[in-house]
Amino acid sequence: MPDQTFQVDIRTLAVHAGRQDLTELGVHAPPIDLSSTYPLPSIADGGLALEELAGGSPADAKGAVYQRLWNPTVARFEQSLAALERTEQAVGFASGMAAMTAAILAARHHNEGSHVVAIRPLYGGTDHVLATGLLGTETTFCAAHEVADAIGPETCLVVLETPANPTLEMVDIAAVVRAAGTRPVLVDNTFATPVLQRPAEFGAAMVLHSATKYLGGHGDVLAGVVACDQQWAQALRRVRVVTGGVMHPLSGYLLHRSLPTLPLRVRAQQETARQLADYLATEAPGVERVFYPGLPGGDPEELIGRQLAGPGAMITIQLAAGTSGAENVTNRCRLFGHAVSLGGVDSLIQCPAALTHRVVDEQARPAADLLRLSIGLEAYEDLRADLAQALGQQA
Ligand SMILES: *Cc1c(COP(=O)(O)O)cnc(C)c1O
Repeated sequence: MPDQTFQVDIRTLAVHAGRQDLTELGVHAPPIDLSSTYPLPSIADGGLALEELAGGSPADAKGAVYQRLWNPTVARFEQSLAALERTEQAVGFASGMAAMTAAILAARHHNEGSHVVAIRPLYGGTDHVLATGLLGTETTFCAAHEVADAIGPETCLVVLETPANPTLEMVDIAAVVRAAGTRPVLVDNTFATPVLQRPAEFGAAMVLHSATKYLGGHGDVLAGVVACDQQWAQALRRVRVVTGGVMHPLSGYLLHRSLPTLPLRVRAQQETARQLADYLATEAPGVERVFYPGLPGGDPEELIGRQLAGPGAMITIQLAAGTSGAENVTNRCRLFGHAVSLGGVDSLIQCPAALTHRVVDEQARPAADLLRLSIGLEAYEDLRADLAQALGQQA
């Protein structure tokens, strides 16, 4: 196994990370450990292990005690993702929102403040949990250049997403980290994946993924993960033990199995998305506007090449025929599935205002005539033909 100093290409790391001990174990594929509980060596050692795990330490020889405290199959995926994000550790959760909840609670507890600064746009669920104050936080929503002014003595966390869901707006992570000073910055890296962007290299304290999307990549896992240093990981595991938003071991296994193909999938999906964005912007019937970082004007701060390796595989379009056009197009697509979620091998289309961003305050909600496309691994020609026929019948 190559060491994790990252002289190694991400494709190699994606295949080998989290598998160092397999030869020693005498197996080729990682074992799945579904134990809900574990045999205890003695009352004293069991008690000691429980205390350490509840304090957020990783399991050691004294045992895992109980699945809510530790699971080795989930730990393999965590180790692998940390290698890809170039962070010390990672902590897995039951969903992206469970990960976001834990990150907010960990930051609140750690910094003893309850104020959050959040850069819009954000995924609807993230926006909602912050706007409602459900977790006891108070949030100032602002633009990236307003972060320094928005920070106050009680600020415990700065949250951003780049490229953002659904309009693919991009944020200069290093600039926000500078503006945030000593406050931790959390970057939702779901859209870019570590293949295209590694926010920890630009100073992000926590890098969050809805692992449900590209990391899983096959539409059959719900999970979340935060990549970070050892200290944040410890704080996150403490929250995970108490709140119980744990990742299931089968999800951990499937995610770990999906990582070796992540670089191939993301790059292939991105290539098709580039071609489709070009088609949509120049030739497609009835498209008013295309949101895609790779198009002229799509990257005003020139972050591609500096922060982000490529524009990714998400495209949002605005239709000439408005909301009725959006209804007709989603109904007429045959290859594009009409469904929320993204980042899988199959292409999907959905209307953010009606679905993923429905819970966002009206003044911050995306326009009702936007459609978000997640480009999968199908052939470009077939996807283009599907969009052409659907867009041609939007009236
Ligand atoms: C889907 C999504 C989430 C939430 O993740 P779940 O796994 O659905 O809980 C968070 N952020 C982004 C950018 C997402 O797309």
